[in-house]
Amino acid sequence: MTIVTRFAPSPTGHLHLGIAHAALYAWMRARKASGRFLLRIEDIDTQRCRPEYTAAIIEDLAWLGLDWDGDIRIQTQHLPDYDRTIATLASRNLAYRCYCSRADIAAAPTAPHGPEGAIYPGTCRHTQQHRPGQKYAWRLDVAAALAETGPLERDPRPFGDIVIGRRETPASYHLCVTHDDAAQGVTLVTRGADLEPATALHILLQRLMGWPTPAYEHHPLLTDTTGQRLSKRDRAVSIRALRDSGATAAEVRAMAGFPTPA
Ligand code: GLU
Repeated sequence: MTIVTRFAPSPTGHLHLGIAHAALYAWMRARKASGRFLLRIEDIDTQRCRPEYTAAIIEDLAWLGLDWDGDIRIQTQHLPDYDRTIATLASRNLAYRCYCSRADIAAAPTAPHGPEGAIYPGTCRHTQQHRPGQKYAWRLDVAAALAETGPLERDPRPFGDIVIGRRETPASYHLCVTHDDAAQGVTLVTRGADLEPATALHILLQRLMGWPTPAYEHHPLLTDTTGQRLSKRDRAVSIRALRDSGATAAEVRAMAGFPTPA
């Protein structure tokens, strides 16, 4: 079977060494196996993502020497697909409207913390309320979902009822990433270890929607010499800055953990 990997950056800033590492990892995995490597721009969060970063990321990847197969998928061009998925889950009573604000959730006395912050206490789960004119998010009813799927190889419950459609934007990372990996026929998801917990949610969504589960590889995050994780805020490690300072693509690939074989 041909391996299909993907790199799926969110255009919230310039490409930096840590993200270039993830890109090179996925690209190498595909190319070494004569597989396909796809590029997807995860720009659903319209408050944080900017088109100029999308353009810059694409340019920096090409400068680094990466090539990708087929067209680049841009998530904001596929909003009706995500709407349909949410509607399907809602029609099966696996998703519900939530009118709570972040402040409401933080103020709830029973709000323990999960991998993504305060766990939603379930206030809107059984109210069946629809308040015309008021903004809402869609949440996945994880208990109802697990009642359908049965126990899974990874437990999604520590996240609580995650948001699958946001108040500000029509969809959410978890929903779109899972939808698109299936839609694009991705067979091997490679990504940083920071995203490993979320895999439990993605597998749950796959089982509910009847989508295949790809193989997952979570690689360690690139760190600097002191062991600190390289972050977007450190402008010194942006690919642009390195390029402007005269570094070659081969040098930058080596800094991102992938020295070019001689
Ligand atoms: N868009 C996500 C990010 O930039 C990564 C998605 C994934 O690899 O699953 O953090």
